[in-house]
Amino acid sequence: MYDYLIVGAGLFGAVFAYEASKRGKTCLVIDKRDHIGGNVYTEEVEGINVHRYGAHIFHTNNKKIWDYVNQFATFNRYTNAPIANYKGELYNLPFNMNTFYTLWGVTSPQEAQQKIKEQREAAGISKPTNLEEQAISLVGTDIYQKLIKGYTEKQWGRAAKDLPAFIIKRLPVRFTFDNNYFNDRYQGIPIGGYTAMVEKMLEGVDVTLNVDFFEDKEKWSNLANKIVFTGMIDQYYDYQHGVLAYRSLQFDTTVLDDVANYQGNAVVNYTDRETPYTRIIEHKHFEFGTQDKTVITKEYPSEWHPGDEPYYPVNDKRNEAIYQKYKQLAEQEVNVIFGGRLATYKYYDMHQVIGAALATVTRELD
Ligand code: FAD
Repeated sequence: MYDYLIVGAGLFGAVFAYEASKRGKTCLVIDKRDHIGGNVYTEEVEGINVHRYGAHIFHTNNKKIWDYVNQFATFNRYTNAPIANYKGELYNLPFNMNTFYTLWGVTSPQEAQQKIKEQREAAGISKPTNLEEQAISLVGTDIYQKLIKGYTEKQWGRAAKDLPAFIIKRLPVRFTFDNNYFNDRYQGIPIGGYTAMVEKMLEGVDVTLNVDFFEDKEKWSNLANKIVFTGMIDQYYDYQHGVLAYRSLQFDTTVLDDVANYQGNAVVNYTDRETPYTRIIEHKHFEFGTQDKTVITKEYPSEWHPGDEPYYPVNDKRNEAIYQKYKQLAEQEVNVIFGGRLATYKYYDMHQVIGAALATVTRELD
């Protein structure tokens, strides 16, 4: 009999397993996939660590979390500085003085601020009623048309005019020549890939892959005193209050045998509406790779249907109401702990999910 059955070998499950084992508890981790790591999984292709479930860049402002992950991996100096490609024109992201110079030829922060102000005023929007109006009222028409509209419409599968304004509360605008996407103090990619990092967390822990908890819920539950569940909470409760909606993604990965450097950057966003993918990731640039070949992944946003990979929760009113009902059921459980992005129906960055797992461990075991 184990102390804990942990359903899901992603970051939440792995951190919980590591910490519980450290405190003398026995754990069995199961995952329906054929690998550990959940969505941060990386696999080596042509000597390059490929991020199978989308580009993952670790960043945090929290020194404790940074020190925590550094126990399991050494991080490189990668800094996320994406490029936007709008119909062949290239712009730096996030919106900063480099972007404004390319867009308008302005060379000082005052000129850039003036330009944005003029465009905001010309649009005359006092109370934005949809995402389009909200974005224009924040950054003006040019940035919206070239860098936001198409990308957002592809991401959500709907016209920006039909999306609610609240999706964009703020848009990061910087009046410095700084292409660093994140504001956090710490950032990087684990040398050797995320899978190796999670392997270290799970060292000495029993792990069984290729098994779905729901195929024999009773059998798995009977193996441990308590369950840590990191799968979909609606599925745990047989969808009795309805199905929680997600946005999904399709990844199309290609090895380019004759190309050493395809796009000169790890992340290039395609911000026009016509190109069907939102981004091309060139994985070697996350780790300053010098191989003769390269591996690229095109990322296509897609509708989610039950059975597809759930990536982004749709946190609108309908889904929030459904989630609250499941949450109430979860709160009544004595021997089941729900954690991670799927069981709490929340978009978490890696540092947040690690923080949440550590907080759960403290509540449960300290
Ligand atoms: P998961 O990694 O999803 O792990 C859950 C595991 O449970 C999965 O392995 C699943 O197979 C397993 N499971 C589910 N149901 C069952 C079942 N019934 N039986 C057995 N096993 C089951 N974060 C960042 O900090 N930086 C980034 O740049 C970044 N980029 C991202 C890009 C994309 C496209 C996405 C979708 C997310 C990104 N994230 C990023 C967020 C990051 O992926 C998550 O924070 C993290 O993976 C969450 O870990 P988790 O353990 O909660 O969930």
